Amino acid sequence: MKRSVLIAAVLAGLTIPAGASAADVTADHAVQRDLALAATFWAVEQPTLTSPCSSEQVIVTQMQDGIGVNGALVPAADVWAETALGSCTIDIAPVAWALGSSGDSGTSDMLCVLVAHEYGHTLGLPDTEAVPMMSGSWGRRDDPLCDQAVYGWRWTLHKDREWIAANRGRLRIARIEHQAPAAATASQAVASQPATAPAAVSVPPTAAPAATW
Ligand SMILES: [Zn+2]
Repeated sequence: MKRSVLIAAVLAGLTIPAGASAADVTADHAVQRDLALAATFWAVEQPTLTSPCSSEQVIVTQMQDGIGVNGALVPAADVWAETALGSCTIDIAPVAWALGSSGDSGTSDMLCVLVAHEYGHTLGLPDTEAVPMMSGSWGRRDDPLCDQAVYGWRWTLHKDREWIAANRGRLRIARIEHQAPAAATASQAVASQPATAPAAVSVPPTAAPAATW
């Protein structure tokens, strides 16, 4: 997979800033774009699901140990994102944010797909192989809208173009519904996150056997 290779290459030269404090990146342009794309993606894929959130908050923060696919414990160091089911706060690990906001196309796409996956958790979807975007395997997570937004139509994969073409009408409706400008509440207290059960987690695409996540 071209994307996994890219991410592996970038990871090799990266040091993770330890102990960095939480930062609210909700208002970041790329985050706003990714959230809007995620909302549109899910409106097409799972039209019966409605978000409990008036707006989603995206926080870059240290991860906690989490529960992966099949209830397996995932150590914090292997977690790239955490979102409690039905929560409106998406936590992203500093390493995932550093890569995703670096300007590289491959990792920008990674962040976009990561946000789409985590957005699925805000809708209450668990990690499940029954829904490709909610799969533990990055190879199965595909968001045609991320592909198009990051690479442009010309470089959008054929299967993603087909998805976009097949859903043209629903995409138009979904975009209209989500056009209301998302008033980013950047001042919202990070500390207000409720203490919840272990969140569903995303681990990096280069991590160990797919069967464990
Ligand atoms: Zn997940």
